[in-house]
Order: sequence, then C-alpha cells, then structure tokens
Amino acid sequence: MIARRGTLIVVSAPSGAGKTTLCREVRLCLPDLAYSVSYTTRPPRPGEVDGRDFHFVTQPAFEALRTAGALAEWAQVHGNLYGTHAGTLERALAEGRDILLDIDTQGARQLRARYPTAVLVFIIAPSMAELEQRLRERRSDPEREIRRRLDRAREEVPLWREYDYLIVNRDVKEATEHLAAVIQAERCRTNRLSLAMPDLEVRS
Ligand code: 5GP
Repeated sequence: MIARRGTLIVVSAPSGAGKTTLCREVRLCLPDLAYSVSYTTRPPRPGEVDGRDFHFVTQPAFEALRTAGALAEWAQVHGNLYGTHAGTLERALAEGRDILLDIDTQGARQLRARYPTAVLVFIIAPSMAELEQRLRERRSDPEREIRRRLDRAREEVPLWREYDYLIVNRDVKEATEHLAAVIQAERCRTNRLSLAMPDLEVRS
C-alpha cells in the first residue's frame, strides 16, 4: 500500500565518540537496515573481517575504483583512503532499503551534494574531556595518535550544523534509541512516500 525509495542514513562523529558501536547496535534494533561496507587502504585491525567490516584493498585497487567512477564519495582520513561504492547505494535505494553509512565529515559533505535527501546524523561525546578519556581507555593508540585524534575532533565538532540531527552519546543504550528513532521518523516522512489504497480513488 505504501511505497518508498530507500534513504541514506549517514553517521559521522569524531574518533572516540562511539559511532561504530552505535551503528552496530542500531543495526541489531533495525535488522532490515542495510549497511554500506566501505573500501579502505587501511590494514585490517585484529578481529576485522574483509567484506564485513571493510573491503580491504591496495592503493592501486582503490585508485582504479576511483578513476572508474565507482565511488560515490571518498576521502583521506588519518593517512588512509576510504570510499563508498556507488553501486551498493544505488541498489539499496532502488530496492526501497534504507542504508546506513559510517563515514567521515568530508564524505558526508560529498554525499549530501550527490543525494540531497540523505539524512545526516552527527554523534558527539558529552565533552572533550570525556572524548579524551574514551580514546585513552582504548589503550590501542600511542600518545601521538591520541593527540592527533583530539586535534581533529576539535576541527570536526563545529561541523555539527551541517547535519540534520545531533546525538550526544552519554550512554550507548540511550544514544542507540535516539538513532533508531531518527531512522523510524524519517521512514514516516510524507515526502518520501507514495500511497495507494485499493479502496480509495485518489492515488499519489
Ligand atoms: P576507522 O579506520 O577508524 O574504522 O575509520 C576512520 C574514519 O574513516 C571514521 O571516521 C570512519 O567513519 C571513516 N570512514 C569509514 N569508511 C569511510 C568511507 O567510505 N568514506 C569516508 N569518507 N570515510 C569513511
């Protein structure tokens, strides 16, 4: 009765704000949500699976995708290249499936230009002190890297106004509920729907 095209749900956040966890949790709440697996030249971290977490590719392979026009957006982040495959997005949208993207602010900007109806969500930690504490608790990064991520976060937080929604991640459960609520609300927006009732003359 109700038909709709899929929606791009773009999530960005400074490193350490909890974006990866929130994206994983919201996919558990909304199992029909597709996920865009990015291409990257970054080597896999322990536990990461090729094709599930990322498509891990060499720099020449990445360049080949880029020059072939296969990427809907791409960016260099923390010294590595990352990109989103355009075909994956187009397929999900055409099938009426919403698709979640975990990408940086440069990529979000490019997608906004290419897909004006994309929904952009920005996640932040409650304070810079809290963000620093979370980065230190990971215990995986050297001090220099933590400083670099904090400097980048200071540049990224002011970009929140370019986004449609802002979620403060004080608590994973609460922030996941907010992200799921945003997606559910967008699914009900009238300008994304076409309605056909079999027992009503008017169709739109
Ligand atoms: P990480 O390597 O730590 O998983 O991700 C580093 C940053 O790259 C994160 O901010 C993540 O959102 C971003 N990122 C991951 N995939 C893509 C992508 O396809 N495009 C862009 N522009 N950024 C991405």
